[in-house]
Amino acid sequence: MWLGLDDTDSLDGGCTTLVFHELLNSLPCEYGEARLTRLWPFADKRTRGNASLSVEIFADDSIVEWLDEYWNKNILPLKGKVAKSEHSQREQYPSDPGMTLFDEQPDEQYYWDAVRGEVDYLIGGHQWGGNGRIGAAASCAWRETNPTWEAIAWRKGERMVSEMALEVVDNMEGTFLCRDPRTNRGLIAPRGPCPVMFGVRATSRSVANDACEELIEGSAQTIGHRIFKTNQASGDHLDSSFTETVNDKISLTGGHVIINDRYLVFSESGKVNTIAQWLQIEDSFECVGLEYEGKIHVEAIRIINSENKTRPLCKCGTRMKSMGAGQGVRCPKCKVRSEDSWDINKRIPPFAGWVQPPADKRRHLAKPLT
Ligand SMILES: [Zn+2]
Repeated sequence: MWLGLDDTDSLDGGCTTLVFHELLNSLPCEYGEARLTRLWPFADKRTRGNASLSVEIFADDSIVEWLDEYWNKNILPLKGKVAKSEHSQREQYPSDPGMTLFDEQPDEQYYWDAVRGEVDYLIGGHQWGGNGRIGAAASCAWRETNPTWEAIAWRKGERMVSEMALEVVDNMEGTFLCRDPRTNRGLIAPRGPCPVMFGVRATSRSVANDACEELIEGSAQTIGHRIFKTNQASGDHLDSSFTETVNDKISLTGGHVIINDRYLVFSESGKVNTIAQWLQIEDSFECVGLEYEGKIHVEAIRIINSENKTRPLCKCGTRMKSMGAGQGVRCPKCKVRSEDSWDINKRIPPFAGWVQPPADKRRHLAKPLT
């Protein structure tokens, strides 16, 4: 059977990962690897982070009654509390927890639909609660293509991770996004009131485990920890890339750039924004991003071609001028004529190849460039 949980985040506790951790600890049956999935970031009424959780459990139908009781006592009371985020300017919705239980793993397509767009409730199985049932079911449907792992520990009181432990973990082969390489600031500990002490990401379960032990050693007191298999850094939210020629470019106050009235590049996106600012009309580029309200929110970009075209110089050193379409060029000074031609100068982009926003401005789902 597959058990899913989502949308229990709130200001005073209720962090979905911790609620799920406690649920697993209480389960009267065996269970598989805990899974954390990130879904479409623009989902209607999403709460902070948009993380949903799931696990395979080895139980019979009698588990339904047990889950009923657990739901009413421990999870339902979290409904309606509002999560506060210091990062997001988006409106936060009251949490609307949901839990799902399926005999068989739901159809994989439901996951792909939920990670790339808005989906409706999945019919079937046993379901508890409200809006969170969508994420819970979508998490159950995840087939673990391109997984990474995250070890999460929850704090007892204050949030403190030693700089030394962070240093060790950052240098471990197989951890990623531990630090922002630009500012050197640690990225593993969240800010704000949530009960997470740290979340450390790795490309394997064993590295996540080693990193977790190291960090717990160098942290304030924790009340528990668990390793989750995740779809973070999978790139699952992006379907295919877009290749375009710049016909139109608008720079907004604040530094955002809109290309061809379709591609939106935020000022916070670092090198991606630098590239967008640098692009000129007729340049060609390739990008990836999610579509929302008719605009593609660009998450990575590369220049395909950029060039300046100028008329050739005459022997006298003066720039030739066009005589009109198909009429060739002429030196305005000594009136020498020549065939219609251009001098093409390739522009060298400020960064070669694909670029991405800085580490702390990327989506959880964004696949790091290698
Ligand atoms: Zn001349």
